[in-house]
Amino acid sequence: MKIAILPGDGIGPEIVHEAVRVLHALELAFESETALVGGAAYEAQGHPLPGATLALAQAADAILFGAVGDWKHDQLERALRPEQAILGLRKHLGLFANLRPALCHAPLVQASSLKPELVTGLDILIIRELTGDIYFGQPRGRRTAVDGHFPGTEEAFDTMRYSRPEIERIAHVAFQAARKRAAAGGRAGARGKVTSVDKANVLETFQLWRDVLVEVHAQYPDVELEHMYVDNAAMQLVRAPRKFDVVVTGNLFGDILSDEAAMLTGSIGMLPSASLDGNSKGLYEPIHGSAPDIAGKGVANPLATILSAAMMLRYSLDQADAADRIESAVQAVLAAGLRTPDIWSEGTNKVGTREMGDAVVAAITGKTIPSTRR
Ligand code: NAD
Repeated sequence: MKIAILPGDGIGPEIVHEAVRVLHALELAFESETALVGGAAYEAQGHPLPGATLALAQAADAILFGAVGDWKHDQLERALRPEQAILGLRKHLGLFANLRPALCHAPLVQASSLKPELVTGLDILIIRELTGDIYFGQPRGRRTAVDGHFPGTEEAFDTMRYSRPEIERIAHVAFQAARKRAAAGGRAGARGKVTSVDKANVLETFQLWRDVLVEVHAQYPDVELEHMYVDNAAMQLVRAPRKFDVVVTGNLFGDILSDEAAMLTGSIGMLPSASLDGNSKGLYEPIHGSAPDIAGKGVANPLATILSAAMMLRYSLDQADAADRIESAVQAVLAAGLRTPDIWSEGTNKVGTREMGDAVVAAITGKTIPSTRR
């Protein structure tokens, strides 16, 4: 197993450091190599995704990524901004499926903006198509309108577009994920369910999406398929979120719904993600950014990154048992009352990045979880 480690900017290096310590604590045989990415790479080598970093990512079985971005680089031309690194990696590695679990950890139920009875036991997987849709469709641009409501005035336009193979491959990812979750005990007693979110009532693109989902579903009779319009899905996610199991949708709708689902769990510092190609190679990163406001202070929550490492073991490295061990260790440290400031509440132990990492390592190696107060 070869893992490329790309810590990036801001809190990236601090949180990735803890995730790597956790991986070592599992005593698995893996090779790893670290490279610069984002603003750190721009400053050292003049580009946010240097050739050597891309080559390392291409050669690896999986990539563990921290975060990129710093306000001091906001004035750079777009192609040199740190955020371009992640777009470049997605493009060059063909990472078309973005998986984002939204799991409400029992001890953190109070952190959700919804009532505890709505989110207790919440466990959703949002799958967002990542390389197509209106974000990449051509043509796009600005021009003088020749027709429409105001001919002769300036207008802008984008193209929403999906091809059949693009929809087929994301549909397979969704049905297979639902199958895996059901096999692992998923929704108690129920078979796996995929909710396909579209706007087939208005958009041609999403009528094709729906048709293809139905066709691909024929290969997965053990998984339930339901269709939902995106406006209704946005509503149901806050009304009765536990009705969902796997949600699959396009790039634009997924961008919005995955952030909405993330908020159901209350904390941005707890949520991992995976971006996969067609061969289970993937890039794993927390859903949050580089948090420049708290970088270097030792207070960032490393759990989203540690849980991203667990996803990496499960989806790319075929080490489901090791992934389970990390996830159980995270549950154990939360149950023991340890909290970084972002998830702290009265009566729990406030700890820093390093202490949280120590605690997860201790839980994995069967040692007593330290209860350092900060
Ligand atoms: P952010 O996610 O970095 O931070 C939002 C808020 O959440 C901040 O108050 C931050 O302190 C807090 N936060 C985030 N992660 C945390 C953690 N692990 N523990 C505790 N608190 C945490 O979003 P932002 O401030 O809008 O963006 C900052 C930079 O990150 C920008 O340059 C942005 O472009 C970049 N960004 C990068 C990625 C990525 O690398 N994939 C994603 C989103 C934003």
